[in-house]
Amino acid sequence: MLYLGYHLSSANGFEAMGKEALLAGANTFAFFTRNPRGGKAKDIDPDDAKALISLILNAGAAGALPFAPLVAHAPYTLNPCSDKANVREFAHMCMADDLQRMEYLPGNYYNFHPGSHVGQGIERGIEMITNLLNDIITPEQNTIVLLETMSGKGSEVGGRFEELAQIIDGVQCKDKIGVCMDTCHVHDAGYDIIGDLDGVLEEFDRVVGLGRLRALHINDSKNPFGSHKDRHACIGEGSIGLDAIGRFINHPKLAGLPCILETPNEFEGYKREIEMLRAYSV
Ligand code: FE
Ligand code: FE
Ligand code: ZN
Repeated sequence: MLYLGYHLSSANGFEAMGKEALLAGANTFAFFTRNPRGGKAKDIDPDDAKALISLILNAGAAGALPFAPLVAHAPYTLNPCSDKANVREFAHMCMADDLQRMEYLPGNYYNFHPGSHVGQGIERGIEMITNLLNDIITPEQNTIVLLETMSGKGSEVGGRFEELAQIIDGVQCKDKIGVCMDTCHVHDAGYDIIGDLDGVLEEFDRVVGLGRLRALHINDSKNPFGSHKDRHACIGEGSIGLDAIGRFINHPKLAGLPCILETPNEFEGYKREIEMLRAYSV
């Protein structure tokens, strides 16, 4: 069973996203918890959240594919290791507020880009990210927070598995923290998922632990291997290619994980990519 979905717009609320996902043949999806580049979040409508939960449950019961957990995405502007106090404060406020709102959709994931240390050094960056997580994550929450694997562009933290492992090491509520692996990012970071996927997954297992891996972002890359760039391409139109992506999503060690497309597409394009990936056999 493949769990495939894509990044939906939350402009029309939760239930509308669920309906669109079903129309696209998706059985998971992602959404921004608020404007990806801005600040203020809309108030949650608890009835809308309930409507989405029952839509997902009934979809499974009605014979549609059962859903994997949803993978919410924090705004790109969230940077816990900025050198500016107001940016760090925003990160704090934003994640705390988002996680409170995620409680209306219990049992799902909240993914974020660990941050950019902007010249303060990787160790200091990791320390600030860990502090944020320890300030905000509570043992009672029903959301698992995911660190996204990054391409290592600029001063990004999370381009190496070791950096993610170090953050996780410092987090107190270990059962509330996990990782989301992005194919474009790891490829751009220099992990050879085309030629040596088994080796990359063994390395991830050794450094972080495959048990921590909760979700996958499925993107082709506009840039060559190891470029540290992070520009997503449609599936089969980039330097990773359909075969490597098909092998990735079908790898037995990744079975059951939600696979989220973040490719440059609209509805029709995502629907096509989902069909193409469901039809792909290794
Ligand atoms: Fe992301
Ligand atoms: Fe991603
Ligand atoms: Zn990206």
